[in-house]
Amino acid sequence: MKITILYDNNANPGLKSGWGFSCLVDSRQKILFDTGDNGEKLMYNFEKLNIDPKSVDKVVLSHNHWDHVDGLEGFQRFNSKAKVVHPKAFSQTTEISPGIYSTGALGMLPKEQSLVAKAEKGNVVITGCAHPGLDKILQVAKKLGQVYAVLGGFHGFSKLDELEGIQLIGPCHCTQHKQQIKDKYPDEFVEIKVGSVVEI
Ligand SMILES: [Zn+2]
Ligand SMILES: [Zn+2]
Repeated sequence: MKITILYDNNANPGLKSGWGFSCLVDSRQKILFDTGDNGEKLMYNFEKLNIDPKSVDKVVLSHNHWDHVDGLEGFQRFNSKAKVVHPKAFSQTTEISPGIYSTGALGMLPKEQSLVAKAEKGNVVITGCAHPGLDKILQVAKKLGQVYAVLGGFHGFSKLDELEGIQLIGPCHCTQHKQQIKDKYPDEFVEIKVGSVVEI
């Protein structure tokens, strides 16, 4: 399984950054998770990374904050057929594509869903802003098996012990304690920005 970061607050050279998050999960189907805050920048990054927007099967929106959903319109100019899975589509863990699950809507306001993708090495958890609390999201994800990797926006998450045992940790976007996470888990930490590719 391959995960390509298409939108983030930071970008590799030649790609556009913006406040928000988006990534493409390329497994048996191609799932676009979130769309960043600007469709033009998102589609610029699609093109630069040689990803055909028409190849996307489904769009999953983590939660209804502008920095995760405002790029949708720009994407839909290129692909209006991909089914959109809205944040509150499910109230519990649900398989939305072969081997790829939504945690279901968690937390209060805003309700937020995260992705759990089954990869060869273990499960990968992908978060938008992790507003419900990354520890809560991981609890739900663990019901599907051991978590191998977690990446996305961790927001104010500070219970760093909860990351113990995870092999790959990629905090990005709105993560406030990125440096502390890197200091505590230097071997597991991976730098995530637009253009980063994680193969699991
Ligand atoms: Zn956000
Ligand atoms: Zn948010």
